[in-house]
Amino acid sequence: MPETPKQISAEIVTVGTELLLGHLIDTNSAFLGEKLAEIGINVFYKTSVGDNEERLINVLKLAGTRTDVIIITGGLGPTVDDITKNAVVKLLNRKLILSEKVLEQIRGMFSQIKVKMAQNNLSQALVPSGAVVIENGNGTAPGLRLQNEEGKYFILMPGVPREMKKMTEESVLPFLKETFKLEETIRSRTLKCFGLGESTVDEKINDIFTASTNPTIALLASHTEVKIRLTSKAKSTEAAEEAISRVEKEILRRLGDNIFAVDEGSMESKVAELLKAGKLTLAVAESCTGGLISDKLTNVPGASEFLKLGVVSYSNQAKERLLNVPPTAINMFGAVSKQVAVEMALGVKKLSNADISLGVTGIAGPGGGSEEKPVGLVYIALSTPSGMQVKECRFRGERIKIKEQSAQTALDMLRRHLLGN
Ligand code: ATP
Ligand code: MG
Repeated sequence: MPETPKQISAEIVTVGTELLLGHLIDTNSAFLGEKLAEIGINVFYKTSVGDNEERLINVLKLAGTRTDVIIITGGLGPTVDDITKNAVVKLLNRKLILSEKVLEQIRGMFSQIKVKMAQNNLSQALVPSGAVVIENGNGTAPGLRLQNEEGKYFILMPGVPREMKKMTEESVLPFLKETFKLEETIRSRTLKCFGLGESTVDEKINDIFTASTNPTIALLASHTEVKIRLTSKAKSTEAAEEAISRVEKEILRRLGDNIFAVDEGSMESKVAELLKAGKLTLAVAESCTGGLISDKLTNVPGASEFLKLGVVSYSNQAKERLLNVPPTAINMFGAVSKQVAVEMALGVKKLSNADISLGVTGIAGPGGGSEEKPVGLVYIALSTPSGMQVKECRFRGERIKIKEQSAQTALDMLRRHLLGN
């Protein structure tokens, strides 16, 4: 009978009192959870513990009884609140030994950045007996790997996300794959959809959902997008990617241009890509979004290639003076009106000489609404060489959500125009 491969389990332990007080969000365990799942290790527990040696020892002792690998982040630095190494030394009955090699590396690191090494950094060169040192390519505190008597692994990494991530990718994951002969890989891809509600997306792809066991499909809706997450388990990365691509193709066929991005991609990066490809420039006049559209666009590297001007014209006076919105338009139709959105788009276009412009005006709330013009009423005008489009939107939710939906909708209108729709 073929032997069933053993399931390898892990516990993630994050150390730091800030994590418990809510001053710091534990992004390390989210990252580690995802990475471990990708190589087929089941994370059974995630524990956060404050900077307290006794409690950390207890947590680690328990972790060692219930999982094969215990991954610990934080508390590896040189300061007094950094207690992780000592806790492990006590738990596993080790001694701390000065490692000349680690000391040299730390000295080298400080001389490279031309900073005098503090005396307490010496403590970072103290290595528990029997531990394997994991190099830190992005900082001074090296990682450590130890095994207890039952062969359970304790892997210690710094808390600083940049250092921890590099160490995980370069050393920890390859080690675990090799040690446990992990042959299964889990890959995920997230398709991001805008313009269709969650239930419509569900209706359109429901049958694929039910029929497909590899990849599995999950929907996750928020106010600015519906995410469709495809997750595949396979013997190799290629096989997993292939299974995902097969289903992705069918979803794309059904949802078409409503899918605006994949994985880390965003609405603004898609818009930026299309503007650059068409060698087109853009100007934005914003009222209720308060600069959010410009903010999003300038988060994309190389935004200066296409973004000519962003104006936040919050007051009527600014709309009139800067953008030449006729006072009669504001008096007759109100600042939140189709006409004013159009005038804002035209005004900022003239001011900047851009090829395309957007004008956004609306009521973000919570006050300022009326029966005729409720909170969440937003007008978005898009002026392009082929004409003017205006959209009346009625968003729901609190102020920030209304701003975000307005910005996303404006960018989506632009995206669809650039795609030729
Ligand atoms: P250092 O040498 O900087 O002291 P360290 O290994 O001792 O590193 P900590 O002192 O625990 O790590 O954390 C350093 C910083 O890393 C924290 O201030 C925080 O910004 C970040 N950090 C620590 N743990 C986490 C976590 N679980 N999730 C996200 N960020 C974290
Ligand atoms: Mg620290």
